[in-house]
Amino acid sequence: MKKIPPLDLAQQYQTISSEVGQAVLELLASGRYIGGPVVAEFERQFAEFVGVSDCVGCNSGTDALYLALRALDIGPGDEVITTSFTFFATAEVISAVGATPVFVDIDPHTYNLDLDAVAAACTPRTKAIMPVHLFGQPVDMTRLMEIAGRYNLGVIEDCAQATGAVWEGRRVGSIGHIGCFSFFPTKNLGACGDGGAVTTNDPAIAARVRVLKEHGQTKRYHYEEIGVNSRLDALQAAILQIKLCHLDSWNSQRRKVQAVYDELLLPVKSVIRPQEIAGGTSVWNQYTIRVQNNADQAMSAGEYRNWLRDRLQDRGVSTMVYYPMPLHLQPVYESLGYLSGALPVCEQLAGEVLSLPMFPELNRDEQTQVVWCLKDCLALPISNFESV
Ligand SMILES: *Cc1c(COP(=O)(O)O)cnc(C)c1O
Repeated sequence: MKKIPPLDLAQQYQTISSEVGQAVLELLASGRYIGGPVVAEFERQFAEFVGVSDCVGCNSGTDALYLALRALDIGPGDEVITTSFTFFATAEVISAVGATPVFVDIDPHTYNLDLDAVAAACTPRTKAIMPVHLFGQPVDMTRLMEIAGRYNLGVIEDCAQATGAVWEGRRVGSIGHIGCFSFFPTKNLGACGDGGAVTTNDPAIAARVRVLKEHGQTKRYHYEEIGVNSRLDALQAAILQIKLCHLDSWNSQRRKVQAVYDELLLPVKSVIRPQEIAGGTSVWNQYTIRVQNNADQAMSAGEYRNWLRDRLQDRGVSTMVYYPMPLHLQPVYESLGYLSGALPVCEQLAGEVLSLPMFPELNRDEQTQVVWCLKDCLALPISNFESV
């Protein structure tokens, strides 16, 4: 049987190789490798795509989040509310600016922030909320903005996994005060290397981000604050310009892949499928199911899930675990004092989640094979359990 990878960037490249090749050669011939018209043009196109007035390119999604926090003057003594069930960078940057991440629990159906928990976590020290549109699924931004408005908080959207996702007619990254995007190759809009962007409808925030991303320089060789060096390469911008033209079609192909998984998995009662939030259009960066160990009490949920993952791998199906440990229980955050059991939904899901192969080019036959193997593994006698 065919091996099925979690995603296949080389396959996608084949479909656009001549366009990308030409753009790269033109850029190389231009001699303009840093900044220049191609970066400016991509920023303009990406702002238009997201539906904002301003976009500033930078080196990565992580830098975008860091620059956003700095632009809102968030620092020591401030609290920022975010999800514990996300990639580490979301919380890392809060700590990097000297503020304190306040982790709250998630909704078990969407895997996104539980907004009741967000409202309950607001204190006089809270400065901002950082919602993450996890796996491509938008957070209920209407309610989130209402909570933020009530407490006068900044909202920084982590859109790294959700480029193109829509909440009630608006793209993510255009609803909060700042949107942060990653162009890491595995994201929906991926470069051929690192890249990121900050989006906003506030020209003053955009101007501040431009200063901060260039060493805090306000005029040439004149520095008013400590910044960083964070650039979107012209070469990456040239590639992203081409890929942006295909993004809506790739995202709708992802939605077709999701619909086929939903259909094939419907009869598989022991699998909990991801649910799309009413009012939102997910772009399915991941299709993440939950698998529960109901058979063997001697094995923890996570051990069972990992065992299942290994058996799928034996059959040529590569799956991923996003994320095996919530951030509030990471060793680096021990000093924040969260105990095991503090955020029960995150902790339960960390033991159950399994992300199936997901990319626009995945076809029905391959998906049928994935689900066939999954059913096969789910039916294996638990005595086959030999890891730990
Ligand atoms: C990928 C990712 C980031 C970081 O993006 P980089 O470009 O890798 O720095 C931040 N947050 C989330 C949720 C991500 O998935």
